[in-house]
Amino acid sequence: MRFEGIHHVTCITGDAAGNVDFYTRVLGLRLVKKTVNQDDPTVYHLFYADEDGSPGADITFFEYPGARRGRAGAGMVHVIALRVGSEEALDFWEARLRAEGRSTRRSDGRLRFDDPEGLGLELVVVAGGDAPLMARNPEVPAEVALQGFDGVRAFSEAPEASRRLLEETLGFMPGGEGGWEARGAVRGGRYAYDPPPASGAGIPGAGTVHHVAWSSNMEDHDAWLARLRGAGAHASGIIDRFWFRSIYFREPSGVLFEIATLGPGFAIDEDIDHLGEALILPPAFEHLRAQIEPVLTPLPDPRASWMA
Ligand code: ZN
Repeated sequence: MRFEGIHHVTCITGDAAGNVDFYTRVLGLRLVKKTVNQDDPTVYHLFYADEDGSPGADITFFEYPGARRGRAGAGMVHVIALRVGSEEALDFWEARLRAEGRSTRRSDGRLRFDDPEGLGLELVVVAGGDAPLMARNPEVPAEVALQGFDGVRAFSEAPEASRRLLEETLGFMPGGEGGWEARGAVRGGRYAYDPPPASGAGIPGAGTVHHVAWSSNMEDHDAWLARLRGAGAHASGIIDRFWFRSIYFREPSGVLFEIATLGPGFAIDEDIDHLGEALILPPAFEHLRAQIEPVLTPLPDPRASWMA
């Protein structure tokens, strides 16, 4: 039983409109689901991914309007790494991000930058290997497009405390830059730690990561819960998120993990050609639409100008 890499990474934004602009127009991802936080349906949950809304390419945001900036500290993810196919792709993104006023830091095979709210992002050249998960965008040629997650890096004061759960319970394999890889039959995703900054404890808020989800095959999900509980982890039980099913728990460093099923997926309740255009509420929340819709910030359809 192995994870098929990262399923999604969920973060916090205080500015849904700016968030949509950055992740769709600038980074070229597709808004694949515009819905609400199922634990707080008065705020958006926005999902950006490849053209098909695939697990493995799915960065999501809870919007808390006007939320203060947070800061990553111990027990929090501080960088999300996304794959690109070549150094030429890094040239493209370095120029594009600088033209957007973002500062970038280039090193061999990597380009590090922050999103407009300070969320740490990195593009990593990974040639060959897993299938690229790409979205279409008129300003981003396919050969330089983002290709899905490579991994995440978290801050931990005691990374060794996590080793046993990661390796023995979750099946992570040690490898590469002091980290691990969770690899299944089709995809892999990396996880690694860095020492926390001296600036002090982390502060959740805009521009921080809320949790990272790992991809489970549909038939393995119950067994993952049993395995977690057998290892003494305090797991949430199985929660039906409609587009996938989820189990939540904190790994020993404090990072909130989720195990999410690969299906049924975002096309279950929307035409694949129109993903993300309308506010979609899971059936259990549909009766709240009249209260929810007026309190949400109206958002543009990022594709309205070029898909007509
Ligand atoms: Zn999640």
